[in-house]
Amino acid sequence: MKIVLDPGHGGKDPGAMFRALREADIVLDMALACLSRLQLWHCVALTRTSDVYVPLADRVQIANWWGADLFVSIHTNADPDPDAPGMPEAKGEEIWIYPDSSTSLDVANAIQDHVDSFFPDHHFRGIKETDHLYVLKHTQMPALLIETGFIDNINEHTAFANPLFRRRIGVQLARGILLYDKGKQGAV
Ligand SMILES: [Zn+2]
Repeated sequence: MKIVLDPGHGGKDPGAMFRALREADIVLDMALACLSRLQLWHCVALTRTSDVYVPLADRVQIANWWGADLFVSIHTNADPDPDAPGMPEAKGEEIWIYPDSSTSLDVANAIQDHVDSFFPDHHFRGIKETDHLYVLKHTQMPALLIETGFIDNINEHTAFANPLFRRRIGVQLARGILLYDKGKQGAV
Protein backbone atom coordinates (compact mmCIF):
# COMPACT_ATOMS: atom_id res chain seq x y z
CA MET A 1 0.00 0.00 0.00
CA LYS A 2 0.95 3.62 -0.47
CA ILE A 3 0.19 5.31 2.83
CA VAL A 4 0.29 9.01 3.68
CA LEU A 5 0.71 9.87 7.34
CA ASP A 6 -0.36 13.39 8.18
CA PRO A 7 0.89 14.81 11.47
CA GLY A 8 -1.50 17.70 12.08
CA HIS A 9 -0.53 21.37 12.40
CA GLY A 10 3.14 22.52 12.58
CA GLY A 11 5.15 25.73 12.26
CA LYS A 12 3.00 28.80 12.87
CA ASP A 13 0.07 26.50 13.69
CA PRO A 14 0.90 24.72 16.97
CA GLY A 15 -2.52 23.06 17.20
CA ALA A 16 -3.88 22.55 20.69
CA MET A 17 -1.64 23.73 23.50
CA PHE A 18 -1.70 22.95 27.17
CA ARG A 19 1.01 23.92 29.63
CA ALA A 20 4.34 23.30 27.86
CA LEU A 21 2.97 20.89 25.24
CA ARG A 22 2.06 21.65 21.62
CA GLU A 23 -0.08 19.26 19.61
CA ALA A 24 2.16 19.77 16.55
CA ASP A 25 5.21 18.32 18.36
CA ILE A 26 3.35 15.39 19.88
CA VAL A 27 1.77 14.19 16.66
CA LEU A 28 5.02 14.55 14.69
CA ASP A 29 6.73 12.11 17.08
CA MET A 30 3.79 9.72 16.69
CA ALA A 31 3.91 9.94 12.89
CA LEU A 32 7.67 9.35 12.75
CA ALA A 33 7.36 6.26 14.94
CA CYS A 34 4.47 5.01 12.83
CA LEU A 35 6.53 5.60 9.69
CA SER A 36 9.52 3.63 10.91
CA ARG A 37 7.33 0.63 11.64
CA LEU A 38 5.14 0.81 8.53
CA GLN A 39 7.90 1.39 6.00
CA LEU A 40 9.17 -2.14 6.53
CA TRP A 41 6.13 -3.31 4.58
CA HIS A 42 4.65 -0.33 2.76
CA CYS A 43 5.54 2.84 0.85
CA VAL A 44 4.94 5.62 3.33
CA ALA A 45 5.04 9.40 2.86
CA LEU A 46 4.61 12.09 5.48
CA THR A 47 2.97 15.45 4.84
CA ARG A 48 5.66 17.00 7.04
CA THR A 49 8.77 15.62 8.76
CA SER A 50 9.66 18.67 10.83
CA ASP A 51 7.99 21.59 12.57
CA VAL A 52 6.81 23.41 9.44
CA TYR A 53 3.45 24.82 8.42
CA VAL A 54 1.74 22.84 5.64
CA PRO A 55 -1.66 24.12 4.41
CA LEU A 56 -4.49 21.59 4.44
CA ALA A 57 -4.81 21.81 0.65
CA ASP A 58 -1.16 20.79 0.24
CA ARG A 59 -1.58 17.84 2.56
CA VAL A 60 -4.49 16.60 0.49
CA GLN A 61 -2.64 17.24 -2.76
CA ILE A 62 0.35 15.16 -1.64
CA ALA A 63 -1.95 12.19 -1.15
CA ASN A 64 -4.05 12.73 -4.28
CA TRP A 65 -1.11 13.31 -6.64
CA TRP A 66 0.80 10.36 -5.29
CA GLY A 67 -2.27 8.15 -5.66
CA ALA A 68 -2.11 7.01 -2.05
CA ASP A 69 -4.20 4.04 -0.92
CA LEU A 70 -4.68 5.35 2.60
CA PHE A 71 -4.46 8.72 4.35
CA VAL A 72 -4.10 8.88 8.12
CA SER A 73 -4.18 12.22 9.89
CA ILE A 74 -2.88 12.25 13.46
CA HIS A 75 -4.02 14.75 16.08
CA THR A 76 -4.53 15.29 19.78
CA ASN A 77 -7.84 16.52 21.06
CA ALA A 78 -8.61 19.43 23.35
CA ASP A 79 -11.63 20.24 25.42
CA PRO A 80 -12.18 23.99 25.14
CA ASP A 81 -14.82 24.13 27.86
CA PRO A 82 -13.55 24.77 31.35
CA ASP A 83 -14.23 21.71 33.46
CA ALA A 84 -17.32 22.32 35.53
CA PRO A 85 -16.95 21.36 39.17
CA GLY A 86 -17.88 17.73 39.65
CA MET A 87 -17.92 17.02 35.91
CA PRO A 88 -15.41 14.52 34.58
CA GLU A 89 -12.65 15.76 32.28
CA ALA A 90 -12.98 14.85 28.59
CA LYS A 91 -10.74 11.89 27.80
CA GLY A 92 -10.07 9.05 25.41
CA GLU A 93 -9.37 8.49 21.75
CA GLU A 94 -11.67 8.82 18.75
CA ILE A 95 -11.46 8.19 15.00
CA TRP A 96 -13.18 10.36 12.38
CA ILE A 97 -14.11 9.21 8.88
CA TYR A 98 -16.09 10.68 6.00
CA PRO A 99 -19.74 9.51 5.90
CA ASP A 100 -20.49 6.30 3.99
CA SER A 101 -16.86 5.49 3.36
CA SER A 102 -16.91 1.75 3.88
CA THR A 103 -13.17 1.20 3.35
CA SER A 104 -12.33 3.98 5.78
CA LEU A 105 -14.63 2.28 8.26
CA ASP A 106 -12.85 -1.05 7.68
CA VAL A 107 -9.49 0.57 8.43
CA ALA A 108 -10.90 2.34 11.47
CA ASN A 109 -12.33 -0.94 12.75
CA ALA A 110 -9.00 -2.70 12.27
CA ILE A 111 -7.09 -0.11 14.23
CA GLN A 112 -9.75 0.48 16.87
CA ASP A 113 -8.38 -1.98 19.42
CA HIS A 114 -4.84 -0.69 19.01
CA VAL A 115 -6.01 2.90 19.38
CA ASP A 116 -8.10 1.96 22.39
CA SER A 117 -4.98 0.62 24.10
CA PHE A 118 -3.35 4.07 24.22
CA PHE A 119 -5.18 4.76 27.48
CA PRO A 120 -6.63 1.40 28.57
CA ASP A 121 -8.57 2.90 31.48
CA HIS A 122 -10.06 5.68 29.34
CA HIS A 123 -12.85 4.47 27.12
CA PHE A 124 -12.60 4.73 23.34
CA ARG A 125 -14.97 7.49 22.19
CA GLY A 126 -15.80 5.69 19.00
CA ILE A 127 -15.58 5.85 15.23
CA LYS A 128 -17.50 8.93 14.11
CA GLU A 129 -18.56 10.35 10.78
CA THR A 130 -18.16 13.97 9.68
CA ASP A 131 -18.21 15.86 6.42
CA HIS A 132 -16.62 18.91 8.06
CA LEU A 133 -12.98 17.87 8.14
CA TYR A 134 -11.08 19.17 5.12
CA VAL A 135 -8.55 16.35 4.83
CA LEU A 136 -11.30 13.72 4.93
CA LYS A 137 -13.52 15.56 2.50
CA HIS A 138 -10.93 16.23 -0.20
CA THR A 139 -8.74 13.13 -0.18
CA GLN A 140 -9.60 10.70 -2.97
CA MET A 141 -8.72 7.57 -1.03
CA PRO A 142 -9.85 5.94 2.24
CA ALA A 143 -8.94 8.42 4.95
CA LEU A 144 -9.26 8.82 8.66
CA LEU A 145 -8.34 11.29 11.34
CA ILE A 146 -7.32 10.04 14.75
CA GLU A 147 -7.65 12.09 17.88
CA THR A 148 -5.17 10.23 20.07
CA GLY A 149 -6.36 11.72 23.36
CA PHE A 150 -6.87 15.04 25.13
CA ILE A 151 -3.84 17.26 25.56
CA ASP A 152 -5.65 19.04 28.39
CA ASN A 153 -6.72 15.91 30.26
CA ILE A 154 -4.26 15.69 33.13
CA ASN A 155 -3.53 11.95 32.75
CA GLU A 156 -3.29 12.04 28.97
CA HIS A 157 -1.24 15.25 29.13
CA THR A 158 1.28 13.55 31.40
CA ALA A 159 1.51 10.62 29.01
CA PHE A 160 1.89 12.86 25.95
CA ALA A 161 4.78 14.66 27.67
CA ASN A 162 6.77 11.40 27.52
CA PRO A 163 8.51 10.92 24.14
CA LEU A 164 8.54 7.16 24.66
CA PHE A 165 4.77 7.15 25.06
CA ARG A 166 4.33 9.16 21.87
CA ARG A 167 6.43 6.62 19.98
CA ARG A 168 4.44 3.78 21.45
CA ILE A 169 1.25 5.34 20.11
CA GLY A 170 2.85 5.62 16.68
CA VAL A 171 3.78 1.95 16.75
CA GLN A 172 0.27 0.95 17.86
CA LEU A 173 -1.17 2.92 14.98
CA ALA A 174 1.14 1.11 12.60
CA ARG A 175 0.07 -2.24 14.04
CA GLY A 176 -3.57 -1.34 13.43
CA ILE A 177 -2.89 -0.38 9.82
CA LEU A 178 -0.92 -3.60 9.29
CA LEU A 179 -3.82 -5.58 10.71
CA TYR A 180 -6.16 -3.92 8.22
CA ASP A 181 -3.81 -4.80 5.37
CA LYS A 182 -3.57 -8.43 6.51
CA GLY A 183 -7.36 -8.67 6.68
CA LYS A 184 -7.66 -7.23 3.18
CA GLN A 185 -5.40 -9.95 1.86
CA GLY A 186 -7.58 -12.59 3.49
CA ALA A 187 -4.85 -13.63 5.91
CA VAL A 188 -6.94 -12.85 8.99
ZN1 LIG B 1 -5.39 18.92 15.60
